[in-house]
Amino acid sequence: MQSVCVCRGCGRTIETEFLYCPWCGISRLEYNTGEDLSPMLSKLEELQIQDKVKHIKRLDAELAELEKDLETLALSAEMHK
Ligand SMILES: [Zn+2]
Repeated sequence: MQSVCVCRGCGRTIETEFLYCPWCGISRLEYNTGEDLSPMLSKLEELQIQDKVKHIKRLDAELAELEKDLETLALSAEMHK
C-alpha cells in the first residue's frame, strides 16, 4: 500500500517517503500529513531555550564567584605590597 499525503504548497498528492514535493519543491516537513508536529517542535525549542538559560545562569554565577575571588586576590596583593 502506498502512503500519500497532500502537499501543503500545491495541494497535489505526493508519496510520504518523498522529502520534497516533486511538484512545487516544498519541504516534506511542511506537508500536511494530518499530524501537526509544530506544537511538539515549539515545545522542544522551548526546552532547549530553557536549558540554555539555565546554562547561562550557571555560568553567570560562576563568573560572579570568580570575580569575588579575583577581588580578594587583588586586595591581598595590595596588602602585601
Ligand atoms: Zn507541492
